Formats: sequence, structure tokens, C-alpha cells
Amino acid sequence: MQNVTLNNGVEMPILGFGVFQVEGDKTQEAVEAALAAGYRSIDTAAAYENEEAAGAALKASGIAREELFVTTKLWIQDAPAEQNTTRALDASLQKLGLDYVDLYLIHQPFGDYYGQWRAMEQANKAGKARAIGVSNFAPDQLLDLIINNDIVPAVNQIETHPFRQNVDYQELMKGEGVQIESWGPFAEGKNGIFTNDVLTKIGQAHGKSVAQVVLRWMVQREVVVIPKSVNPDRMAQNIDVFDFELTADEMGQIEGLHTGESQFFDHADPDMVRWLSARRLG
Ligand code: NDP
Repeated sequence: MQNVTLNNGVEMPILGFGVFQVEGDKTQEAVEAALAAGYRSIDTAAAYENEEAAGAALKASGIAREELFVTTKLWIQDAPAEQNTTRALDASLQKLGLDYVDLYLIHQPFGDYYGQWRAMEQANKAGKARAIGVSNFAPDQLLDLIINNDIVPAVNQIETHPFRQNVDYQELMKGEGVQIESWGPFAEGKNGIFTNDVLTKIGQAHGKSVAQVVLRWMVQREVVVIPKSVNPDRMAQNIDVFDFELTADEMGQIEGLHTGESQFFDHADPDMVRWLSARRLG
């Protein structure tokens, strides 16, 4: 597996496995199948309510801890955010059955995320999180956090797929030492992605599926990516993207699919902000 090196020297697999919307009781089976297919990086979150099942699969696999890369995420915490964050990370570690995570992310820029970040810096120094980062941070929020704190986030995990490519934002992050990570690489199938003409034709030229073309495009752009699937055949397909290369012309054709629009939600939408704020975890 190809790795990226994060800004503190930690190595992270460029391709991992996401478990959003995988129900608790199916998660253990899915993560076990993903590990058997060769994935070593697993992306979960307190808000997914499947950390326990993911942890059980990690344990059952017998794979050495150092070979795994485990990401989990902090859900919105209000003041006293430093105490709440420490408590939330301890709860996540207990559910996962781990002494440390490889990457701990602030899931959403809501609540007292400055306090959250200070606690995450402490957790990093204490060895409970080898790297710390953020998710769903807009450029101004990310820069503000960087300017006013000690540790620069190692990662920003954001909606990134062929219709919303974040090319300029990736450049900006790179300049600050922040690794871009894609969530929703297939836009969860929205906007006809799996039957898109451009992606289908490129796939045919390489004997690969649309999903594989999308993931290969991410890898060539040095975007960390964590596709989700509960189907073992698709899991195997999604990790099998290291034996072909897209040409510059093909990369350009995919660039042409960018519209910039979210396929999910608009953070400027007051209803969305209210929805997020209403969902607190203890
Ligand atoms: P994805 O874009 O990864 O799409 C998943 C969907 O694509 C599922 O319906 C899956 O179906 C289908 N699929 C997967 N592989 C294939 C394939 N080869 N061919 C056809 N269909 C396929 O969506 P996610 O939202 O799950 O994003 C990935 C991960 O990113 C999440 O699991 C989570 O870890 C993270 N994430 C983080 C967010 C954040 O706010 N930080 C928000 C959203 C996601 P099936 O399972 O049946 O194969």
C-alpha cells in the first residue's frame, strides 16, 4: 500500500476503508472482510456508533497494532470543551479497545472547537492520538485554527469527488502542511456517478470500473481516500487500483466533471447548522 507522510512524520495509507452508515451489527463483519481484503486503514467516528464493532473486528483479525491505521472523530463538544474532548477520546478508545488512535479528527467545526483542539494537542502529546486533524473545515476556519494554535492539523477530511474536486483548496492545504482526505469519493452514488460517460469510457480503456477510475484519480492527485462498501467484491475492487495509471489526458477529462457543488449539504444552510448543532453526543 502506498502511504502519505503527514506533517509530523506519521505514515498514513493513501487508501483506507470507511464505515459511515454501516450499522453496528454489520460493522464487525464488514471491517473483518475489509481487513481480509488487505485494507489496513479504517475510518470510523463516535457519531457513527460503530466504534465498538470496528474495534472487535480489529481485535479478531489478529493483525499487529502497528500495521493498522485507525481514525476516529470527535463529535461536537461545547465548553468545557477541553474536559469533554478528553472524556470523548477516552470513551472512543475504550470502545475501540485501543490505547491510541492513529488519527483523531474534529468531525465538524461546531461547538467550542478551539477548546477541542487544545485537548487534542494534549492527547497528541500524551500519545493517545499519533496525529490530529479536522474534518469539514472551510479554508478560513482551517487557516484561523492554524494561525492561532501550536499544532497544525495533519489532515482535513472533506467532501471530495469528481463533481467537487477541491483542487485549489488542496493546494492551499499543501502549502500549510495539511493533507487532504476525501470523504464520499463516489458521492455515495449520487449524480449518476457510476454510469457517468467520461468515467465509464476511461474505465473501459483500462479494463477497470468507474469506482476504480475515481479512486485511481484520487491516488494520482495524492488525495487520501476511504471508500465504503459492505460488499466484499466491491471492497476487493476498491483496493485494486495500484496496477494502472491514468494518462494526463484522462486526468484532464475527469477535471472537466467538476462543478464545485456539494452533493450532500451546504454548511451555509441555517437548517443544516441547526441540524448539526442539535446532535450532541455525551
Ligand atoms: P462513498 O462515496 O464511499 O460511497 C459509498 C456507496 O458506494 C455505498 O452505497 C456503496 O455501496 C457504494 N459502492 C462502494 N464501492 C462501490 C463499487 N466499487 N461499485 C459500486 N458501488 C460502490 O460514501 P461514504 O459517505 O461512505 O464515504 C466514505 C467514507 O468517508 C465514510 O464511510 C466515512 O468513513 C467517511 N465520511 C466522512 C464524513 C465526514 O463528515 N467526515 C461524511 C461522510 C463520509 P455498497 O456498500 O453496497 O457496496
